[in-house]
Amino acid sequence: MSDCVFCKIINGDFGTEFVYENEYAVAFNDIEPKADTHVLVVPKKHVDSLSELNDEVLLGKLMMTVREVAKKLNLKSYRTVINTGAEVGQTVFHLHIHILAGDIKL
Ligand code: AMP
Ligand code: ZN
Repeated sequence: MSDCVFCKIINGDFGTEFVYENEYAVAFNDIEPKADTHVLVVPKKHVDSLSELNDEVLLGKLMMTVREVAKKLNLKSYRTVINTGAEVGQTVFHLHIHILAGDIKL
């Protein structure tokens, strides 16, 4: 979507550095980190939220991507968070999985 900040990041509009990338997703550091490590895993395809995702294969690929990012960053212990809906704090309406590790302030 043209007005979606994560679509713009995926498109390279902001020159955001990807800590990991594969066919399905990119991962980059959260701009306002809530932990020592705070990375977002974002599908390349725009999906508003988990509620709108009806692609089992993509869901699996995203979770495998989380594992790959954790491995690349040498994270033995980490928390994954998916906010779905404004009432629980979703602010960017392009599905993303937070990976948090270290001292977590969330
Ligand atoms: P959520 O509240 O689950 O929708 O998470 C959205 C996250 O995206 C927040 O933690 C923001 O800090 C982060 N964020 C928003 N804009 C950017 C950006 N341009 N680059 C990196 N992270 C961002
Ligand atoms: Zn998007």
